[in-house]
Amino acid sequence: MSALQVGIVGGGISGLSLAQHLSRSGASPTIIDKAVRLGGRFSARPVGHSLVPTSVRSFNVRHDQIPDVRSLFDETVVRLTASEVNDSAADSLSWRFGVDSFEHITKISQTFNRVHGLVTHVAPTASGRIALQLWANGPTLTYDAVVLTPPGPQLVELLRRSEIKIPNRLQEVRYSRQLVFIGSGRKVLPNEPHLADDFWSNVYVKKTNKTDEVSLAAYASHAVSERLWEQDATATQADLATALHSSVPDLQIDHGDVKRWRYANALHLAARDCGQALQPSLPMWACGDGLGGPSGTAWGVSRALSTAAAARDGLLSAFSG
Ligand SMILES: Cc1cc2nc3c(=O)[nH]c(=O)nc-3n(C[C@H](O)[C@H](O)[C@H](O)COP(=O)(O)OP(=O)(O)OC[C@H]3O[C@@H](n4cnc5c(N)ncnc54)[C@H](O)[C@@H]3O)c2cc1C
Repeated sequence: MSALQVGIVGGGISGLSLAQHLSRSGASPTIIDKAVRLGGRFSARPVGHSLVPTSVRSFNVRHDQIPDVRSLFDETVVRLTASEVNDSAADSLSWRFGVDSFEHITKISQTFNRVHGLVTHVAPTASGRIALQLWANGPTLTYDAVVLTPPGPQLVELLRRSEIKIPNRLQEVRYSRQLVFIGSGRKVLPNEPHLADDFWSNVYVKKTNKTDEVSLAAYASHAVSERLWEQDATATQADLATALHSSVPDLQIDHGDVKRWRYANALHLAARDCGQALQPSLPMWACGDGLGGPSGTAWGVSRALSTAAAARDGLLSAFSG
């Protein structure tokens, strides 16, 4: 029998982890991502002389997730101190990524089948498979099963556009309208940095004087945040870093402090539900951190990984026998 063909929409951490799980289970996954580089929000970009993470610095994992984390990231790139490993009383452990973690993810992302394209439409076929339409009038790819991993609002929007009834648990999407923050670069500033064009005029720069140093932080307005979310929320932080760097060329960006918060979350899909098909009659699942979960559950990378494992279990059990 030929291997189960699975289309994974999105090659962020959840899509990559799922592709790894499925390959090891004998299925044949293909990642379809609109971005040229895989990794989604787990990425870094060179800015000046530093590599600035666009998002993640560290994350918490539950003990039962450690094997998945080790297999995806490999021991050499995820640092966990001995005292943390031995801390069996804790519910979760804190892991920290180094810059080499981003390089590692780039490397392993090249080992999977992938298609570069924006999925604009999802449709069941008469033979019970799922067709994915790329770009507006682009090619259509058909798979035995599909897993959607875009962040919550984008996932809901894709399903709405595709006229697929949205399950109740995905209905409520809340934008948290969060500000963007980047900092702190240190430099002796002769003047306020001038952020010239229209776009960056919406970025406010705050200075905090400390002896002869200046701490620099930039906050984007709500309007900018919302607009960027519609384009691609993930690029914002590195864009801000690039803009600051070009305005203040010798700025040393201390990327340890670089931070931006999530914009949006689809609240009503608990992580444990990811093992269920989005519609009982369709071979279509969802995973990723944007699926939300009850308050107090894991978030971020940890949720991305646990929802990917749940989607794999649901999908494989639906096709077993
Ligand atoms: C600034 C910031 C800081 C963060 N800090 C932390 C942290 O410290 N710790 C932590 O655990 N987490 C953190 N996170 C969250 C973490 O980055 C995410 O949880 C994780 O990377 C999400 O992975 P994902 O695979 O679910 O989604 P994503 O990484 O968003 O992947 C989704 C992919 O789908 C693709 N895609 C979307 N729509 C389509 C479409 N229609 N067609 C084709 N492709 C599509 C996108 O290009 C993307 O590659 C942070 C996030 C941000 C933004």
